Amino acid sequence: MNELIITGHTTLTALLGSPVAHSVSPLMHNEAFRLLGLDYAYLCFDVTPDRLKCVTDAFRVMNVRGFNLTMPDKTKMFELADEISPSAAMIGAVNTVVQENGKLYAYNTDGIGYMQAVKDAGFDIIGKHMVLLGCGGAATAIAVQAALDGVKRLTIVNRQGASYQKALKLADTIAKNTSCQTDTCLLEDTSALKQIIATAHILTNATSVGMAPMDSVSPLADETLLHPELIVSDIIYNPRTTLLMKQAKAIGCPTFNGLYMLLYQGAEAFRLWTGKAMPIPQIKEKYFS
Ligand code: NAP
Repeated sequence: MNELIITGHTTLTALLGSPVAHSVSPLMHNEAFRLLGLDYAYLCFDVTPDRLKCVTDAFRVMNVRGFNLTMPDKTKMFELADEISPSAAMIGAVNTVVQENGKLYAYNTDGIGYMQAVKDAGFDIIGKHMVLLGCGGAATAIAVQAALDGVKRLTIVNRQGASYQKALKLADTIAKNTSCQTDTCLLEDTSALKQIIATAHILTNATSVGMAPMDSVSPLADETLLHPELIVSDIIYNPRTTLLMKQAKAIGCPTFNGLYMLLYQGAEAFRLWTGKAMPIPQIKEKYFS
């Protein structure tokens, strides 16, 4: 069995954000490095956006291979990268950086993680209609990747308020840059939502409603909006089964949670840094069961 040994040659990867100490990413990446016998290590650094430039400049000098970014650093990194992938550019946020010869190449793997989790759950949503609840950071990454991957129609749903303008803008950006048809709906407009959901193949909750400690709440006020043919997925993984998933299961809908989105966004970052596939079955068994 390989051991993870830090040597003079060890290549550093990292997570930057604040807070970061709770993250599963160091466990996942260090175990994957160990399993593949790669001389890499992954560490967490608590860095707020005002100090991000200073840290990433140091990482260039130190020849750090790459790093992940979590809240609140994802949008600040967008300004600091040398090159931005087309999907990260459309999303407007970065969660993974690869360094090559002092240049920082920025990506966003959150949406890739979600789309891989859909496949892992045994579903094919390419060419189908997706209803996405929320238009925050995670929802934006999912919306852009789903459209780039070939989802035919995307309905972005958000509650009334300032963020609804963001939903309209996101729908417009996606429609202009991909072949996906987009529309938006207010979360409060249950009669319009019912009609939209009736033709949908998948409904994805990318709001924070349902996450502990607010786990007694569902983003859908009325569960009769669901129908048994609808896949209902939640990107929340704490709790493992959200109230929305319970409502959906009671109606007979297939469901899955956000645990494997987390796994596969990490697997894509791992591939970008090492050129190797993360050993998914072992990582799943150890940290995602
Ligand atoms: P965010 O940027 O703050 O966006 C939150 C979204 O939830 C916004 O659309 C917000 O709408 C909506 N929302 C919040 N409270 C609401 C309420 N009471 N009723 C209706 N809508 C409400 O957060 P985020 O980073 O996108 O994260 C969203 C969720 O995804 C969190 O639970 C997070 O843990 C989870 N997540 C999971 C993964 C994974 O790998 N599985 C990755 C990232 C995030 P307004 O703007 O109108 O408030």
